[in-house]
Amino acid sequence: MFDYLIVGAGFAGSVLAERLATRSNKKVLVVDKRNHIAGNAYDHYNEDGILVHKYGPHIFHTNSKDVFEYLSDFTDWRPYEHRVLASVDGQMVPMPINLDTINKLYGLKLNSFEVEEFFASVAEAVPVIRTSEDVVVSKVGRELYEKFFRNYTRKQWGMDPSELDKSVTSRVPTRTNRDDRYFTDTYQAMPLHGYTRMFERLLDHPNIKVMLNTDYHDIIDFIPFKEMIFTGPVDEFFDFQYGKLPYRSLEFKHETLNTENYLAAPVVNYPNDNLYTRITEFKALTGQQHPKTAIVYEYPKAEGDPYYPVPRLENAELYNKYKKLADETPNVHFVGRLATYKYYNMDQVVAQALTLYKKLTATPEMADKPKKPAIIGSTSIMEKLVPRDPAKK
Ligand code: FAD
Ligand code: UDP
Repeated sequence: MFDYLIVGAGFAGSVLAERLATRSNKKVLVVDKRNHIAGNAYDHYNEDGILVHKYGPHIFHTNSKDVFEYLSDFTDWRPYEHRVLASVDGQMVPMPINLDTINKLYGLKLNSFEVEEFFASVAEAVPVIRTSEDVVVSKVGRELYEKFFRNYTRKQWGMDPSELDKSVTSRVPTRTNRDDRYFTDTYQAMPLHGYTRMFERLLDHPNIKVMLNTDYHDIIDFIPFKEMIFTGPVDEFFDFQYGKLPYRSLEFKHETLNTENYLAAPVVNYPNDNLYTRITEFKALTGQQHPKTAIVYEYPKAEGDPYYPVPRLENAELYNKYKKLADETPNVHFVGRLATYKYYNMDQVVAQALTLYKKLTATPEMADKPKKPAIIGSTSIMEKLVPRDPAKK
């Protein structure tokens, strides 16, 4: 009998497994349908021996001391501040837009005060900022919006920025100084030996058993457990009973090139050209020395593995219906980017998982009290609460 069945070995599942096993002496089974741990943060050495991120570039950054210190128990770090160039009008310019971006793009020599005046002169008045278009045009005007944001967003999301919540383009600031870092968080670093090694250490405990290549549907009838932690897509858990929640997917095209360096920056964004949004050169992120170099192209698409929840009102409303179901499902806890339909970075998922751990163990009397098992043998609470579609496997 396991105390917890955890579905998903990404950040959400692995952090909870670690806390429950080491701090609360719970017996935990972690299952993942993929053939590896670490979820979308999974990295591995490719056939040429270069460390690559299978699911696109993952750069760790956070303002949370708690999250950084927590993960530091499982990895050493390589200080790393991320930088991105955008290919616009035949030039490579810093992204986020800053003083140098404007000067290079327009052949000017403005200082910080002058560029502020420039932005003010081109900015559009938007009374209420609701959409991802509003965010940008209200700061830098329509021309820069069209050069840097409109087409990238259309490619990435398959819809116009005016159809997306303001939170999407708000992720990228505008600067009047020369700071060309992509993030300004207090803690910015890469796990020294990679993400997967860090996850190996998170999951390395006698109370934790990991089963890979395992969809949880295939084992819940056979493996008894008391509670479930679910980190997969929430709509799938409930057999899409209110319809599918839209997720955006990507196709990753990995390449190894017979040259030591390839890009002018760790990541180059292509807002207006090509079918891909950006190219990443992994050695720039990891600091690895190697005579060859590995890059990845990201091609956005609608179908495929769910990578991004799509932040817009109608999706939030649909998610809220699933959330209500989730809240009403006893002994199952939903956490992580897909299970709570939130466009979360890694650190936010870690924080969410640590918060859930605290909640699960909030009242020691309750936590220690034996609970009625949710699943024994073939009697599954999910079968009762969520009728399985007989047409589905
Ligand atoms: P996941 O990592 O998705 O883990 C969920 C796991 O559940 C998966 O492994 C899946 O296989 C498993 N699962 C699902 N259904 C089932 C089932 N039925 N049975 C068994 N297992 C199942 N964040 C940053 O902080 N910095 C970045 O630079 C960054 N870059 C990103 C780039 C890309 C292209 C993407 C897609 C994301 C990026 N992120 C980044 C976000 C980061 O990947 C997520 O915040 C984090 O990985 C989410 O962790 P999670 O545990 O919630 O989900
Ligand atoms: N974005 C853009 N142009 C860029 C970079 C970002 O239009 O050059 C917009 C786009 O909508 C993107 C969002 O800002 O999806 C968030 O960018 P971020 O780099 O945070 O995306 P992620 O790394 O999560 O894919």
